Amino acid sequence: FYALTKTKISNVFHQVKTQKKKINWDVEYLKIKYFHIWKSTKKTLFFYWIFHMITFSFKYNNHYLCSENLIGIEMKVLKFGGTSVGSAVRMRGVADIVVNDEPKIVVLSAMSGTTNSLVAIGHKLYADDKDGAKQLISELEAKYYDTVKELYKANEFQNEANAVIKEHFDFMKSFAVNVFNLFQERALLAQGELLSTKMFHLFLKENGVESALLPALDFMRINRDEEPDMDYIREHAAKEIAKREGIKLFITQGYICRNSFGEIDNLKRGGSDYTASIVGNAVKADEIQIWTDISGMHNNDPRVVDKTKPVAKLSFDE
Ligand code: ASP
Ligand code: MG
Repeated sequence: FYALTKTKISNVFHQVKTQKKKINWDVEYLKIKYFHIWKSTKKTLFFYWIFHMITFSFKYNNHYLCSENLIGIEMKVLKFGGTSVGSAVRMRGVADIVVNDEPKIVVLSAMSGTTNSLVAIGHKLYADDKDGAKQLISELEAKYYDTVKELYKANEFQNEANAVIKEHFDFMKSFAVNVFNLFQERALLAQGELLSTKMFHLFLKENGVESALLPALDFMRINRDEEPDMDYIREHAAKEIAKREGIKLFITQGYICRNSFGEIDNLKRGGSDYTASIVGNAVKADEIQIWTDISGMHNNDPRVVDKTKPVAKLSFDE
């Protein structure tokens, strides 16, 4: 029994010893195995991360920064402010800049002073001063007829422009009949850009330049948070451009848009620059230019610094 027990014990002992060895060996094996796995995982993670960053930056670029070019051609966007279209002479100046072979979208503000007058007309209407409002409307209307005389040569074009102006001002006068409301105010504020773009388009037509009006109210849209609805704008701007096949020069209104209810709205005062950047993003423009009419490029911002001087010579790139 003793002998038996002894061998058994030594057997067990031996077994335990070998087990232990085995266990040790297993641990070593596992260490090596997992070290390799860990190393290759690190590699995989690293490559995954790089891949992710590349695809992410593509997605990010396309969707948020540049957007996809749905219209198929490279466009430039050029925006001209109120002073740049403020008179017949200035409108000719704009034509000199935009008439060439480069495909482009020209964004125009209302003629200078117009939006201010429209705001003032709105105040009169809210105050129920209908006569005062009519008076201001007529004064503004007269300025437009004066511009027409200077801008167009042929009677045919003068008549056409006068008819456009009459239509818009009759519409404004129709607000001086009943109680004035917010929807009418927004429609009133939109008239300046509608007028300037139609007049400029007609001017180009008289001078034999082919161009098309892109109605901002058909593609510029803000959402419920009053932010531009980029997907909508991208899709509809592309559609509007595609409709006008073969045209290289498009003219659209700055500032005005529709809201999420489809009502006429605007991008707030000075919003034409914003229109230009939104349109530029939507059509994936390779350049957006904001033109402003000043008597030279100064060596500093004259609104902030006193006694600035115009720079004598400056190239476009500079
Ligand atoms: N006409 C509008 C305004 O005077 C928009 C603009 O000019 O940018 O605010
Ligand atoms: Mg401006």
